[in-house]
Amino acid sequence: MTDRPTTAGPSSAIVIGAGLGGLSAAMRLGAKGYRVTLLDRLDRAGGRGSSVTQNGHRFDLGPTIVTVPQVFKQLWSDCGRDFDREVDLRPVDPYYEIRWRDGSVFTVRQDEEAMIEEVHRLSPRDVPGYMKFLKDSEARYQFGFEGLGRRPMNKLMDLIRELPGFVKLRADRSVYGHASARVRDPRLRMALSFHPLFIGGDPTHVTSMYILVSHLEKEFGVHYAMGGVQAMADAMVRVIEDQGGTVRRGVEVDEITVSGGNADGVVTTEGERIAADIVVSNADPGHTYDRLLRNQTKTRWTKQRLNRSRWSMGLFVWYFGTKGTAGKWSDVGHHTILNGPRYKGLLNDIFMKRHLAHDMSIYLHRPSVTDPSVAPKGDDTFYALSPVPNLHGADSVDWAEMEETYRQRLARVLDEQLIPGFEDHLSASHILTPASFESRYLSPHGAGFSLEPRIFQSAWFRPHNISEEFGNLFLVGAGTHPGAGIPSVVTSSEVLTQLVPNAPRPLVLPQTKMAAE
Ligand SMILES: Cc1cc2nc3c(=O)[nH]c(=O)nc-3n(C[C@H](O)[C@H](O)[C@H](O)COP(=O)(O)OP(=O)(O)OC[C@H]3O[C@@H](n4cnc5c(N)ncnc54)[C@H](O)[C@@H]3O)c2cc1C
Repeated sequence: MTDRPTTAGPSSAIVIGAGLGGLSAAMRLGAKGYRVTLLDRLDRAGGRGSSVTQNGHRFDLGPTIVTVPQVFKQLWSDCGRDFDREVDLRPVDPYYEIRWRDGSVFTVRQDEEAMIEEVHRLSPRDVPGYMKFLKDSEARYQFGFEGLGRRPMNKLMDLIRELPGFVKLRADRSVYGHASARVRDPRLRMALSFHPLFIGGDPTHVTSMYILVSHLEKEFGVHYAMGGVQAMADAMVRVIEDQGGTVRRGVEVDEITVSGGNADGVVTTEGERIAADIVVSNADPGHTYDRLLRNQTKTRWTKQRLNRSRWSMGLFVWYFGTKGTAGKWSDVGHHTILNGPRYKGLLNDIFMKRHLAHDMSIYLHRPSVTDPSVAPKGDDTFYALSPVPNLHGADSVDWAEMEETYRQRLARVLDEQLIPGFEDHLSASHILTPASFESRYLSPHGAGFSLEPRIFQSAWFRPHNISEEFGNLFLVGAGTHPGAGIPSVVTSSEVLTQLVPNAPRPLVLPQTKMAAE
């Protein structure tokens, strides 16, 4: 270990992790006058939103759907910048297509008339229930996203104040339960309830507050960032650096140091000690409390408590490129959800029994229909994602052994039902399993999205944005309030700014090019 601590400067902040939560926290702290040092173990910024490149294919590893773009516009504007000048975000239409094995298709788009026609085509008697569902969704959006999602939830009183709203909006009911109360067709029940899977929750158990996603999609659209979410992350790095902050990639934090009950810096795995006035962790709260604070006594987030918690499902994601296929499979657009033979049964296998089923449902991403930069000219870039159990428990799947078998099963389904003959054109291949999530993102139990968003793991029950255990320690990102998904992790940094004191000795920020114009 180097003996002299390197300090990050006056009013200094260290942010551990350059996920979108960490990047947005660093931007906001920079705007608040802190001298920020951001550390991430990966070689690219973005965390789950980072990318890898192989044979000319850029594989955006995680998020593909950007909703609520105003969250980003606000972030940029809080830093004195203009998001639209720095990121090329484009609406996608249709949003996505949901397919079933019987050949039926449900195309989701913004236009309400078109959606009513679509519901009518599948199940005429469900149109009134669908309209009610949309209203329900809006009420939950106002309460859950605009209300408690944007406020700190670190005091019990913060939660108690919201209880009447939870009761009124039937937060005890699951997303699937709510959809089932409104529509009868099993395909529509699936189409209105699958969204929690995008943030790691089981639709049959996650609180119905999450039906708010239908409203935010309808109201604010589904977007794609040209250059992938990686381009957004890179743009965030530029803002941080323009503010005078430092972004260090390939640096892993081994420990958060604590003195007199207050976090006062970090030590990297290379033994470098960096001191700071505050530490913000964007690493998973499980990793933060269990590993980075392993030498400290904890009262709330103990090993036992973390082990008892419910973690989101794992993900098997196969990223592949195909040569000379642009224009082929013309009915397969940017986003496709392909249902397997079972919905509730499969969810039960993944979340409750933790059993790797033979059948699967797949989300297929084909960004090459929107963004030419993802593949060589004439080629396609895809990813196929199948939710699987996480690694919690002694009898979890051995992915070193299972990876190729599962890839072949997935390839068979894709070949039979979506993109026949694609394997003859393969030009690149990369796989992430829950074991890779554990090793790449240091995600407990290889969970795809940190703690599952169950009602007793949400709001006040989730690890707080201001640590319950140590002073000067703050948390942002998917495992904290308000939760996973791009809009929420960026909102967690909005909550952070309500909790972090203003920098005691504000820095004079260098004039940035954008701000000067
Ligand atoms: C396959 C997939 C698809 C998704 N699709 C969507 C979607 O379409 N739309 C959507 O809104 N959301 C989607 N999500 C969810 C969304 O991507 C995540 O919730 C969000 O990106 C998580 O951001 P985060 O800030 O919590 O941090 P993460 O992205 O988890 O980043 C945390 C960072 O911390 C770093 N780190 C951890 N420990 C240390 C350490 N000790 N030292 C240094 N660095 C460390 C890691 O390397 C990582 O870079 C998807 C997620 C996945 C995995």
